[in-house]
Amino acid sequence: MFTGDEPVTRRVVDRFVAGEHVPQALAVARRLVDEGLTVTIDHLGEDTSTRERADAVGAAYLTLLAALDAAGLAPRAEVSLKLSALGQALPDGGERYALRLARRICAAAQQAGTTVTLDMEDHTTVDSTLSVLRDLRVDFPWVGVALPACLFRTAADCVDLATTGSRVRLVKGAYAEPASVAYRSGAEVDAAFLRCLEVLMRGAGYPMVGSHDPALIAHADRLARLAGRSRDDYEYQMLYGVRTREQARLAAAGHRMRVYLPYGDDWYGYFLRRLAERPANLLFFLRSLLPE
Ligand code: FAD
Repeated sequence: MFTGDEPVTRRVVDRFVAGEHVPQALAVARRLVDEGLTVTIDHLGEDTSTRERADAVGAAYLTLLAALDAAGLAPRAEVSLKLSALGQALPDGGERYALRLARRICAAAQQAGTTVTLDMEDHTTVDSTLSVLRDLRVDFPWVGVALPACLFRTAADCVDLATTGSRVRLVKGAYAEPASVAYRSGAEVDAAFLRCLEVLMRGAGYPMVGSHDPALIAHADRLARLAGRSRDDYEYQMLYGVRTREQARLAAAGHRMRVYLPYGDDWYGYFLRRLAERPANLLFFLRSLLPE
């Protein structure tokens, strides 16, 4: 863990990232699980530009899953995966390469008794990610995916994925998207989120509500009740270090609450890219440093 002597940026990062190595990620995951939360662990990294790097990310996930198994943390701790970190964008068969590595990770997750959720990146990757998801679900039907409500297409994707066994994490969307493919105002994104969530709640799959927004969380609870879902039949998800007290409150109220927990040494790039992509992300992280 970083100490008070480290530069301020490191201490800020420490608030949102579990650490650089597996033992640190495991220690934080253990604490969160002991507090009644569940966890999805992300090995930081994206936009892999070589097959060697993609292989290294794949190997890191296998190490992580073996450690989760040995620590007895599965199934309360699962993993989240960015396909771009597994080489999805590499020329000459990047998608197939990422699929092959993702298959190995899913097999290791199955062995450990836990699950995998695919993060969603910007709109140019959605078709490819959903195609990989379809392939993975043939053998591993429990693989989940994140869908960004800001994209016009997501309403239809939710209809396609609101089926038995399907796990969908609905989020607002973290990437700055062009007006040709996405809603851009906060009010439009919120309205789209609720339309998509209603489809997921009324469908046969397992909805995962990935938001810190109190209004959306209250609506999610209402939509779940209207759809006849019990509290075991959907879950809330929030980022590590963001609205921590609200996470504890939801868990204490009997809701399933999963924390997205990033770890790894690629945190610097992760933060810089997030801030460059969408300046509002700076406000998002800064707000989390204020008392709730
Ligand atoms: P915001 O629009 O950021 O905030 C809405 C309201 O929530 C605020 O007005 C405020 O009232 C309240 N609020 C927010 N933060 C705080 C705070 N710190 N303290 C107090 N109140 C606060 N994006 C992707 O594109 N792909 C992914 O795969 C992906 N995975 C994600 C996984 C998880 C578990 C989560 C939580 C998010 C993920 N995201 C992903 C990011 C997501 O798309 C949003 O960018 C991010 O969650 C911010 O949107 P929000 O719904 O939390 O609400």
